[in-house]
Amino acid sequence: DIRVAVEGSVRVAAAPRLTRPVPEAHKYSRGLVAVVGGAMPGAAALTATAAARSGAGYVLLLGSATDRLPHAIVRRRFSAEALGDERVGAVVIGPGLGREDQAKGRLDAALACGRPLVIDGDALHLLDGRKVDGPMIVTPHAGEFTAMFGEIGGSKIEQAHEAARRSGAIVVFKGADTVIAAPDGRVVVQPDGPAWLSTAGTGDVLAGVIGARLAAGGDPFEAAADGAWLHAEAARLAGPAFMADDLAAHLPVAIGRCL
Ligand code: AMP
Ligand code: MG
Repeated sequence: DIRVAVEGSVRVAAAPRLTRPVPEAHKYSRGLVAVVGGAMPGAAALTATAAARSGAGYVLLLGSATDRLPHAIVRRRFSAEALGDERVGAVVIGPGLGREDQAKGRLDAALACGRPLVIDGDALHLLDGRKVDGPMIVTPHAGEFTAMFGEIGGSKIEQAHEAARRSGAIVVFKGADTVIAAPDGRVVVQPDGPAWLSTAGTGDVLAGVIGARLAAGGDPFEAAADGAWLHAEAARLAGPAFMADDLAAHLPVAIGRCL
């Protein structure tokens, strides 16, 4: 019974315990996040900024027309080889990707690159049930969730759990409550994100935070849960009436509360 399986391991998101960089740290050891851009450069730029403000050591933004982003290495040309670099700790794809042929090609390259993945936004519509061997985190809002998985009955927790089981991915089912579910049955609920988060670009920021936590190493499910908590905490710190850039700007303070 799915409800029994789920109820055994549901936990409410809590402040993660993060560590300071060790003295020997360098930019690659702290996590290299590669963000794949596309049709709408602003969204991927927000994702890249959020990753940089979440403690990533190095942020690479590939295939984006953004020119002023001094904290990221921006390459206008997309290159699949860059994703395969073993120093890449996480690939984030979807925010602002678009859904044209170019976007499909970039998603194919990301799925084939063998690095841990965060898949959001437009890429969720293009995923089409495909699975990968390595860690994969998908971050749908309600519309994207239904497009991916169809109508699944039950509570939001049950839906997220079933989606994770079917897809083999860690599912971050966003909304006023966000539910993070792993295929093995673990579930974390992030219930108290401020409703000020209902503004454009906040989901792109979340994808970047989770990318940075994923690239930092450790368990991908915990990376997703920690990312969701840090995102909500940054919103508490940034409110009221913040815009997505302000949300990203408060991530370092949120992280500071976890050290
Ligand atoms: P997206 O739908 O991709 O733009 O992502 C929006 C982000 O804001 C997600 O992290 C949601 O969980 C969060 N969010 C949206 N609406 C609300 C709300 N009413 N209350 C709390 N969080 C929200
Ligand atoms: Mg979104």
